[in-house]
Amino acid sequence: MQATLKSNVVFSGTGLHSGQNVRMTVQPASANFGIWFRRIDVIGKDALVPARWDVVEQTALCTRIVNDAGVTVGTIEHLMAALAGCGIHNALIEIDAEEVPIMDGSAAEFVRGFLRTGIIQQGAPVRAIRVLKPVSVERGDARAELVPDRDMQMEFHIDFEDAAIGQQTKGITLSNGSFVRELSDSRTFCRQADVEEMQANGLALGGNPAENAVVFDGDKVVSPGGLRHLDEPVRHKMLDAVGDLFLAGAPILGRYRGVRAGHSLTNELLRTLFADPDAWCFEDCTPEMAARLPGAGVHFGEIPAVA
Ligand SMILES: [Zn+2]
Repeated sequence: MQATLKSNVVFSGTGLHSGQNVRMTVQPASANFGIWFRRIDVIGKDALVPARWDVVEQTALCTRIVNDAGVTVGTIEHLMAALAGCGIHNALIEIDAEEVPIMDGSAAEFVRGFLRTGIIQQGAPVRAIRVLKPVSVERGDARAELVPDRDMQMEFHIDFEDAAIGQQTKGITLSNGSFVRELSDSRTFCRQADVEEMQANGLALGGNPAENAVVFDGDKVVSPGGLRHLDEPVRHKMLDAVGDLFLAGAPILGRYRGVRAGHSLTNELLRTLFADPDAWCFEDCTPEMAARLPGAGVHFGEIPAVA
């Protein structure tokens, strides 16, 4: 069955790139509504923005969506990952700024808020997207692909020069609460030199290595407290991919493989998938299939203690 929240959940925090204070309310919505944002600070224009792959703007640093009136919402990926990972299919998100708050740089606070509030099943089956044949996209040495599989599977590989990051590979089946247990608390990361360059260009103004990002400098972790997992960077890249893939509008039944992939490449992968009618189909989930989707079997007690 489709699911939504039992009641409103409020999050307040800082926009990573704008540095602005943001207040956001995630609200229950009816079956088949999907995920939509509403900018409550926008007057005199259409303020509703669908969380959908075809309205994603191409950006390197975050995932941003835009409606026909030019109204945008940015840095939506960690919130989208939390919704996907908790199995929430329908929600209206009211927000008073152009960027989702970064919280601690992971999806843990969103997950905690959703599970504390509670999730209710709705009277309609989940419609999933079944991958029927392999599709892939490449850019330089980065690659992303979707191949047929029974369930939603994910594999990711990263390769950074910084010794503290290096090469990391992880694979996961996204069912039985695995997103909450294994991915949800892994924080966004960057290099010290990137922080300085971004801030000189007016980006990452809300970034703070003590609060919302893991900052690496060569073989050192600059952020106090160190890492939450030895392979926290690859886990975070998977968290991002879970959020970006949820912009498909439904859970995907298939295997995602990412090699050095990022937000824009994962979006290009969805565009490539949907451009080929033979590459996918909708499939109404039986109870047995629904029990293996991301979000099925999530329990509050499984949120990692570190977060
Ligand atoms: Zn991220």
